Amino acid sequence: MSRGLGTKCIHLEEVEGCYDHFGSISYPIYQTATYAHPGVGKSTGYDYSRLQNPTRERLEKVVASIENGTDALALSSGMAAIAMMMELFSPGDHLIVDADLYGGSIRLFENVSRKNGIQITSIDCYKENIEEYINDNTKGVYIETPTNPMMNVTDIEKVSGITKKHDLLLIVDNTFLSPYFQNPLDLGADIVVHSGTKYLSGHNDTLAGFLVTNQKEISEQLRFLIKTTGAGLSPFDSWLILRGIKTLGVRMERSQENAIEIVSWLKKQSLVTKVIYPGLSEHPGYEVMKKQSRGFGSMITFQVRDKKCALSILEGVKMIKYAESLGGVDTLITYPETQTHADVPKEVRIKNGITDATLRLSVGIEDVRDLIDELTEVFSKIGD
Ligand SMILES: *Cc1c(COP(=O)(O)O)cnc(C)c1O
Repeated sequence: MSRGLGTKCIHLEEVEGCYDHFGSISYPIYQTATYAHPGVGKSTGYDYSRLQNPTRERLEKVVASIENGTDALALSSGMAAIAMMMELFSPGDHLIVDADLYGGSIRLFENVSRKNGIQITSIDCYKENIEEYINDNTKGVYIETPTNPMMNVTDIEKVSGITKKHDLLLIVDNTFLSPYFQNPLDLGADIVVHSGTKYLSGHNDTLAGFLVTNQKEISEQLRFLIKTTGAGLSPFDSWLILRGIKTLGVRMERSQENAIEIVSWLKKQSLVTKVIYPGLSEHPGYEVMKKQSRGFGSMITFQVRDKKCALSILEGVKMIKYAESLGGVDTLITYPETQTHADVPKEVRIKNGITDATLRLSVGIEDVRDLIDELTEVFSKIGD
């Protein structure tokens, strides 16, 4: 029987019984750029750290294992991963991408990919008929589910039925749920993207990105690209993420528990006009989430009465930090309009539902009572 995910985050089954590295429980950091060869035409298996590094390789194996892939590539950031993945496409290719995405992904597609001759069509993949947008040159579909920040939920299996029928790549950014709560490859995705900076790291202390696949041909193409473009994750950062992943399970469970309590608290506040959390039964994606995920995560998007109220909350928090990013042990509050989604054109933001009164909360693993106490204090100062 296959092991539970909490266990797989800590133990890599394939190396058990092997006592290399003096049996060290924490995998060593191989801080080296290059490797000596025992003779001409001979290699230890490692030549140069842009191609392979043992610490990075260990991390890649762990990520492949928890994401049910056959290969994972660790890169220097989530954006480095997405940018490298885009090298799979050529000028003249057409891609269908989700309309609501992490702001940096939109910036890449709109400014860099288009410049490189890739045609991009943005649609709401959770509700539109994707097939209507497929042309002769369409090569892939790129989605997030739930999306950042509007929490739109797309049925991965349904989309993969379409991408398989038309021979397109389905790429899923799984950052918001992490492999602990959702495994898109099992639902028919071809490539999974992660910003490892978020839940996989879990401590807001390093950047990382991943591409995971279960197809040999894609893995070979990506290995060629990482060697050629050179954004592989450094040995020390690889070690930090390896360490972070060990506690992924307990962090995901605890932060989700906290999020559920905060969601019910927020729903009772008169200053809050809307709470968007896919674990609410009234969320349009609730049933799909229950089918394809093992949890709802700990990201909450909410709307308050007006911009003034949003700014007062951001100014008022102390323990909760007003900062970009998500997925760490510390609770962070973000203002998508000026932070994560500032480069998204205003009309696109409005169309996606991001206003100047939209806030995003990444719930951490503090004692939830303290989080609610702080929010209560901040909200009470704003008053009616
Ligand atoms: C943060 C984020 C990214 C970008 O990752 P970096 O590690 O910041 O480069 C991509 N997708 C999503 C959903 C994110 O939240």
